[in-house]
Parts: sequence; C-alpha cells; structure tokens
Amino acid sequence: MSSQPAYVQKLASIPKETFLFGSSPIQLLPRLSEKLSPDGKVKIYAKREDCNSGLAYGGNKVRKLEYLVADAKAQGCDTLVSVGGVQSNHTRAVTAVATASGMQAVTIQEKWVPIDPPLYDKTGNILLSRIMGGDVRLNQEGFDIGHKEATNKAFEDVKARGGKPYYIPAGASDHPLGGLGFTNVVLEIAEQEKTLGVFFDTLVVCSVTGSSHAGLIVGAVAEGRGRKVIGIDASGKPEAAKAQVARIARSTATLLDPSLEIPDDAVVLDERFHEGIYGIPGPSTMAAIALAAQTDAMITDPVYEGKSMAGLIKLVEEGSIKAGSNVLYVHLGGQPALNAYSSYF
Ligand SMILES: *Cc1c(COP(=O)(O)O)cnc(C)c1O
Repeated sequence: MSSQPAYVQKLASIPKETFLFGSSPIQLLPRLSEKLSPDGKVKIYAKREDCNSGLAYGGNKVRKLEYLVADAKAQGCDTLVSVGGVQSNHTRAVTAVATASGMQAVTIQEKWVPIDPPLYDKTGNILLSRIMGGDVRLNQEGFDIGHKEATNKAFEDVKARGGKPYYIPAGASDHPLGGLGFTNVVLEIAEQEKTLGVFFDTLVVCSVTGSSHAGLIVGAVAEGRGRKVIGIDASGKPEAAKAQVARIARSTATLLDPSLEIPDDAVVLDERFHEGIYGIPGPSTMAAIALAAQTDAMITDPVYEGKSMAGLIKLVEEGSIKAGSNVLYVHLGGQPALNAYSSYF
C-alpha cells in the first residue's frame, strides 16, 4: 500500500502481538450527552478501551504491551519485570500478557498512594495478578528508596533460575515503543468514523505516565485533520507529567517519521481535576463517577477515569467544547481497582 503516508507504513512494519479483540467499540453516551448538553449541541461518545481485550479485563496497558512483548520475544526474554502501585492496573496487565504469552511476570508493587483502606493489598488488581500466578512482590518502602533495589533483585532472581528478564517501565510509557499503541488508536478511530459518519473533533483522555496521551497526540498531528487531544492530569504532578508527554510524543513521532514535528500547542494537559494527588479521589472525582454510572451505566474508577470524567464534564459545561462538537472520551480501563476503594463509596 504505497499510497499510505510514511508514518502509517512504518507503524504497520513494527512487530506486535495480538492481545485485543480487534478495534475497541465506540458508543454514543446518550443520557450523559443530554444531561451535559440539554440543547443537543454537544454529543459525547466513548472509545471503550476498558473493553478492548479478554486478557484480565484489558485496558490501555494491554494495548501498549502488544508492542513491548513482541520486542521482549525478539530479544529472547521469557520473564517480564515491571513496577507499579499496590493497585496498579499496569502490573495486572503485565502479568496478564505474560501469562497469555507463555511467559512469566515479576511485578514490584509499591506504596505510591498514602492510603490503606480495607483489603487494599488483597482485592482488585493485585488479586487478579495472584490468581494468574504472577510473582507479586509487595514493597512498602515507597518510590525513591525501594524501586531500583527491588528491580535489581527481581532481575537477579530471574537470571538465577536460568531465565531472561525484560524490563517494562511504569505504565509501559518511558520506553521507545510505549507511544505506538495509542498512535494506532487514532487510525482505528478514523476507520470507525467512516462507518459512524461522525468526526470526533476533540479527544479527552486521562494522563499519568503519559504514553496513552502522547500516542493520541502523535496520531492526531500526523493525520493533520485538526483533531484536538485534551489530556486530563491524574498524576497530581502536572508539570513533570506534561514534560514526559511531550518527550514521548516527540520520540514516537521521530520513530515513525523523522520529518513529523509535534508543535508545543499540541500538548494540552488540563490540571484542574487531579484533586491534589495521584491515587486518591476528591469530590469532583466522586461526583463524576456517580454521574457516568447513573446516566449511561458507564463505570469509571477513582484513580484515573473518574478524574478524566470530571474533566470531560467541566469542559462541556463551561463551553470549552464548542456547540456542534462530537467529543470522544477515551476510556482507558481501571475498573478492577474499584473494589479496593469500596470504603470511599
Ligand atoms: C495507566 C492508566 C491511565 C494513565 O495512562 P498513561 O498512559 O499512564 O498516562 C489511565 N487510566 C487507566 C485506567 C490506567 O490504568
């Protein structure tokens, strides 16, 4: 297909595993749209990355990991080693893709969130990893002290039993292939738009380790149709998060097409909804979770998607999303953590 743009050809040439059902569904959210835009001028849809795979409930990390696992296999590795918080969706996804690929996983689960509600280290994501037979290592020392040491120990342990480890950074983001999965999402959306007869002028997405957001930016800039990508910070450290998004977007763009430039104004991160800290919901988060659940029965979580939903709600209500828009909320997953947060409800 020589008629395709260079970046599309390059993307298609990079090896990937198949962990998804296919294209994730796009649905109209009729009752949320009516609630937030009673005059019908803004239509809200969701790209359901939370329903993208049969591997342990899927989500955005599974999509990114299609590329990283192909790379791990090409290097002859047999064990994925990664790191996350106690209720990390990412480490659950790493354990899932390892298991489904006949590999093993060692995940270091750290105290990134200063809370300890009932069963926090026993239910939700960490339970799923244990059911899948993952080597789950709780490391309560906190990020700066324990991280390197625990990772080195995991590497040594894997080698000692004759295995070959492959390191996956937090969120599968700060990795040369981390942005590719969500660059693909934009191509997927463009195909789905043809069937739906809709153009999504605005994408709203949660952003923390940054490669989901960055991949969408690369896809939107590369296609050149003026699609806006609005990241909603849930890291509580928006300055560092934004720098990481820009860096991943630029390295991903360069990998796909050295002439593809990401302008500064393509990197938009709304800082109003993180509620001050990663991993803990605030009033706007809880209200957003309730609204999405009580209109279109769409479930969001207190760590990530409840915060980006709070952002979507505000952007529509305050008129930042113009009349006549079709906005696509990119739902990245995260529901497995909900049970660990039951005391908040
Ligand atoms: C990891 C995660 C995010 C953030 O995605 P990044 O690519 O790390 O920015 C958002 N939502 C859910 C459910 C996640 O698991």
